[in-house]
Amino acid sequence: MSPTHLLVADVDSTLTTTEGIDLLAELAGSGAQVAAITEAAMRGELDFAESLKERVATLAGLPLTALATANRAVGITPGALELITALHAEGWAVGAVSGGFTHMVAPLAETLGLDFYRANTLQVADAALTGTVLPPVIDRAAKAEALVEWAAELGIPLERTAAIGDGANDLDMLESAGLSIAFGGKPAVVAAADHAITESLMAALPILRRFARRA
Ligand SMILES: [Mg+2]
Repeated sequence: MSPTHLLVADVDSTLTTTEGIDLLAELAGSGAQVAAITEAAMRGELDFAESLKERVATLAGLPLTALATANRAVGITPGALELITALHAEGWAVGAVSGGFTHMVAPLAETLGLDFYRANTLQVADAALTGTVLPPVIDRAAKAEALVEWAAELGIPLERTAAIGDGANDLDMLESAGLSIAFGGKPAVVAAADHAITESLMAALPILRRFARRA
C-alpha cells in the first residue's frame, strides 16, 4: 500500500533529546567553543551555514570511533518510535531532515524505521573528521525543500503533509506543510505552528489522526 500522508520531522531536540553537534564537540573538547558559536547564531550574528562551518571546524581530527561513542549518547525522545510505528500502520510515510549529520542521523533512521532522511555530510579522511562539511548544506531552506521533494516523489499533495520541529531552522518546513506542529519549540516556532506539544511525541498522534481524516 503506498502511503497517503507524509510526516517530516526535525532531528535534534525533536526526534532526539540531544543535539548531535554538542555530543561531538564534547568528545572533541570543543564544547564551550561550540556553545559560544551557537549563541552567536541565535543572536543573529551568524547565519546557519556560517555557524555550522565554524562549529564543524572545531571537530577536525576527531576519530571516526568517536562517532560511535556519540551515537550511543543520543537520547531518543519519548514517544518517537511509538509515533512512527503507529503512523506507518495508518498509511503515513515518515522522513527526517536535519541540520545535523548523516553519521548520526543514518543509525537513528535505522532504529526508528524512517522512510527517508537528509542531513549534512561530514568530510572524513584517514578515519577522522577533517572539520569540513560537504555541500549542499542542509539549512532552513533545504529542510523545506526536502519535504516538498519527498511529497512529490510519493505523489502526496502538500495539503496532506505534516511537519514537526523545535527550531528557527524548521520554520520554512513548517510553513510548507499542510499541518505544522511545534515540539517543545522556541517561542517563534510555537507562535508559527498550528499546534504545539511537549514531552512526548505521541501527543502528535491524535492531532495527525484528526488531520488525516480531513485532508
Ligand atoms: Mg531541532
